[in-house]
Amino acid sequence: MSVSVWILGDQLLIDHPALAKAESEFGRQAVTVIMIESHASAQRYQFHAKKLILIFSAMRHYAAMLSQKGYMVDYRYAADFTEGLKVHLKAHRPERLIMMAAINRDGIDYQNRLSEILNSQVTKLENIQFLHHQINPYPKAKPEDAIRQEAFYRKIRGHFRLLMTSENEPEGGQWNFDKQNRNPIPDDVTIPEIIRFSPDHITLEVIEEIKQKFDAIGTYEDFDLAVTHEEAQQAAKDFIEYRLPFFGTYEDAMRQQDSILYHSKLSPYVNLGLLEPLKLAQMAEQAFYEGDAEINNVEGFIRQMVGWREYMAWQYKRLGSEVFEANYWGFKRELPAFFWDGKTLMNCLKHVLERVLKDGYTHHIERLMVLSNFCLLAEFNPKSVFDWFSSLFIDAYDWVMVPNVYGMGLFADGGTVGTKPYIASANYINKMSNFCGDCHYDRKKRVGKNACPFNFLYWHFLLKNESILKKNYRMARMLYNLKYLDENERQKVRQQAENFLKFEKQE
Ligand code: FAD
Ligand code: SF4
Repeated sequence: MSVSVWILGDQLLIDHPALAKAESEFGRQAVTVIMIESHASAQRYQFHAKKLILIFSAMRHYAAMLSQKGYMVDYRYAADFTEGLKVHLKAHRPERLIMMAAINRDGIDYQNRLSEILNSQVTKLENIQFLHHQINPYPKAKPEDAIRQEAFYRKIRGHFRLLMTSENEPEGGQWNFDKQNRNPIPDDVTIPEIIRFSPDHITLEVIEEIKQKFDAIGTYEDFDLAVTHEEAQQAAKDFIEYRLPFFGTYEDAMRQQDSILYHSKLSPYVNLGLLEPLKLAQMAEQAFYEGDAEINNVEGFIRQMVGWREYMAWQYKRLGSEVFEANYWGFKRELPAFFWDGKTLMNCLKHVLERVLKDGYTHHIERLMVLSNFCLLAEFNPKSVFDWFSSLFIDAYDWVMVPNVYGMGLFADGGTVGTKPYIASANYINKMSNFCGDCHYDRKKRVGKNACPFNFLYWHFLLKNESILKKNYRMARMLYNLKYLDENERQKVRQQAENFLKFEKQE
């Protein structure tokens, strides 16, 4: 009796449940692991080179680790998964193919049809990559129920006793320390360098292959990401020791000369299965109890890792893509060319775009308050924004992009995950960063020569969508300020925004 275990590229778990099941039922000698580098999947978008390098190198290192542990591994390069699986089945003739359920919808649909496609016995186990899979926090929730992140987060924290004195009592007597957080970074603060990993021979081989096989976007140079569990763990420790102590304090800050600041840059690893969210939250919690980080910073990180991350995945799973892709605003405009080369006079956007093109990463506030803020104010078609993010970010997967880009970023779902559209003028960007000082545009001007585009686009958005926004009480303060714009000013705002949005000149 032989059995095959198919491990997907974003399921690189130290303890993979399908492997454990196959081994316990049939013995290690009977198990063959099948892993497939699918050409079709790697070409679904024109991906960032560093994302392809990260995934393929991490997969090859994972396969090598399993071989060292004594597993038989069949590592295949195939046109697509079906081809890879068919060739594997023909060569190994297993009685059964076991796998863990995919997270992304197209992966789930494919696995559901697999037994028919392969004419073979297929066993699919539940996915265990998220904490909410273990507790099902809202078993009776109907799709139309508005369940907010804060309530969801408290359930997860309570259940796993993260930073809790009892099941219902949060450490420090508060669930949230935002009032102490979200400060701009003073100029004289020096941010610790993030740990970097030199590519080994496997990674160097992957880089050469990707250069030859794929028309990838972004730069190949300076690939320094973790590609094994050990390296990812070192990256996690590096974060906990050096950046967690100011994570919450400067969570929303941006800086022209630095991109990661006090963020973790752990999403690429946790999304691949190289790190586990609960263990990361527990490492942060331990830093608090050992007196190495204050509660506002630790709670801020735990909220992101097991609050927002779990909530987004849960909403994606229960609602599906259709709810998010609703295109609430009805926007049709395509992204302008400068999103692919970073050539714009807007200093904030230029720096953030350059970071994305170089490394496929920017931190949350740059994604939300620079990139998607601009995309929403400039009325870009949500699908083209989604495709751009999916192409360029090294941590992008359908389950996390759909709720974040369509939902949180663009409010294209009409408010399923967010309670209001995240829009802001230059005021916010200037308060939280030092971009505006070096900009061609004048952050203080709403209209006229060199007026900051974030300003006239912001007012244009409020004017144009006033009747829709009025229904949202969280927008009341922003709308209130419209009364300071007389008809002449309103006309100038409309005119300048409409001219700008033609993107005729280099912007
Ligand atoms: P940190 O700031 O250090 O946060 C710690 C961890 O919390 C992250 O590693 C991540 O795992 C988790 N997290 C925090 N916020 C979110 C969130 N909103 N959704 C899911 N997880 C969260 N996250 C991705 O993993 N992949 C994406 O492709 C992605 N695209 C995004 C696009 C937009 C428009 C927006 C607004 C957010 C997006 N996010 C995405 C969420 C978030 O911005 C990133 O998870 C975070 O910036 C990753 O960097 P970090 O590891 O340094 O995060
Ligand atoms: Fe960005 Fe406007 Fe500030 Fe320039 S002035 S950096 S475009 S917000």
